[in-house]
Amino acid sequence: MKMEHTMELTVEHSGRFCQSCGMPMPEEELLGTEREGVKTEEYCKYCYEDGEFKQPDITLQSMIDLCTGYLVEQGMNEADARGMLAQSLPLLKRWKQEGVSK
Ligand SMILES: [Zn+2]
Repeated sequence: MKMEHTMELTVEHSGRFCQSCGMPMPEEELLGTEREGVKTEEYCKYCYEDGEFKQPDITLQSMIDLCTGYLVEQGMNEADARGMLAQSLPLLKRWKQEGVSK
């Protein structure tokens, strides 16, 4: 399994990416699944499986913390990672629906 893809969270990037954590999903095997086992193009397999979120109670802030950890592991500066996620994750479908108040 190839693990060389880096997080691409910029909105202008037209690839398919998870609407929960922002992870790019260039390969079919990264896609999450609905209850029938059908692949969904909206969420990755780490967030969504068998028609349910794996972490249904996670908050946007917790997701940012979680993803920051992954990006730091990949060698990104923590402040940069957190800043990028704080800007991009609220735009994703899963978090838009929450009606995030300012
Ligand atoms: Zn995801």
